[in-house]
Amino acid sequence: MTNLDNRLYIVATPIGNLQDFSYRAVEVLRSVDWIAAEDTRRARLLLQHYGIQNKLVSVHDHNEAFKAPELIKKLVSGMSGALISDAGTPLISDPGLPLVRLAKEAGVKVSPIPGACALVAALSVSGVAVSGFSFEGFLGRTSASRRAFFTEKLADTRTWVFYESSHRILACLKDLAATLPDNRKIAVAREMTKIYETVLYAPVSEVLREVEDNENMRKGEFVVIVEGCALKKVSEVSAEQLRVLTILLKTQTVKGAVALAVEITEGSKKLLYREALRIVKEQRE
Ligand code: SAM
Repeated sequence: MTNLDNRLYIVATPIGNLQDFSYRAVEVLRSVDWIAAEDTRRARLLLQHYGIQNKLVSVHDHNEAFKAPELIKKLVSGMSGALISDAGTPLISDPGLPLVRLAKEAGVKVSPIPGACALVAALSVSGVAVSGFSFEGFLGRTSASRRAFFTEKLADTRTWVFYESSHRILACLKDLAATLPDNRKIAVAREMTKIYETVLYAPVSEVLREVEDNENMRKGEFVVIVEGCALKKVSEVSAEQLRVLTILLKTQTVKGAVALAVEITEGSKKLLYREALRIVKEQRE
């Protein structure tokens, strides 16, 4: 076994395929004094697969506040430790932030052992532009909160990404389709690295149809990626004006939507009319 200094290692674990684990991750998990894991039973399966025998400590959302200081004391006294989560990279929609913060405050070095992360894996195969993106974690559980969030994001020109569960994927896509223009492309990455891995990339209305028609497309784990808004004339029509116009065009004629948008945003009728025609044209293409 390698002798490690008193460091806290943040170790990424596979998101489905047990082979997706680095040599260094195995070596570190063998060598540290303890491994803090979200679910020790699940962690044991991974450790058994790699023949790792080490002490597991349970650290999850409900006990992290009092467990973290205990673990920091051990690190300060010279021990080394690792944090893993159920799947993927710890702290990414997973526990670990208090532990990392306390370690830093105590002057303990925190080192990453990088590996699988569902959002990065999904982005890499989605077909969506990834030069800039925002990660939104899990969204609200109600339709109203999701629609409010999607409306806020309508005019965002960057790609946005979120996690969704099998219980809510259909309802979530319905809310997305009701809020976004029909032609806006999205990607749904399901069960990545597992047997039934599927990645859909199409306009939101098409993806919704596929998920509605195919029961299997509602099973498993999901990452949803939404292409940013193609804002061509930023200087002429503001993001807010575009957002208002897009919503109005869902229920109004072009003339009606433009009239209301002018009233709401106090924008130029000519520019909003031109923008409305562009949106309608793009939707037909
Ligand atoms: N820390 C993890 C990471 O690095 O991706 C994420 C943990 S979060 C609690 C779990 C969510 O990640 C799932 O509900 C799902 O949205 C997404 N996810 C995890 N594994 C996945 C997979 N194999 N395929 C698609 N999405 C996955």
